[in-house]
Amino acid sequence: MPLYWFHCRACGGFDLAFAMADVPAAAPCPDCASSSKRQFGVAALIRPGSAATRLIDATERTASEPSVVAAPPRRPVPVTRNPLHRKLPRP
Ligand SMILES: [Zn+2]
Repeated sequence: MPLYWFHCRACGGFDLAFAMADVPAAAPCPDCASSSKRQFGVAALIRPGSAATRLIDATERTASEPSVVAAPPRRPVPVTRNPLHRKLPRP
């Protein structure tokens, strides 16, 4: 059964599972039992575990948790192998 999101004004959001034919417009809050309206959000269009999802997760992780480098690489990394790039000015 799919999960549906409801929002209680006092407690915040919570998820409840209903059959698609039995989804109510409001449900009681599990904490305070007040009537909470159903909220509509965006659909999850990305498959978990796919290459796109792994790339997005890795990109977000490097933004918030960049890897720490203790030393420069031992061998210089070749920037380009194109012979025309040899004519470019060097720093
Ligand atoms: Zn509540």
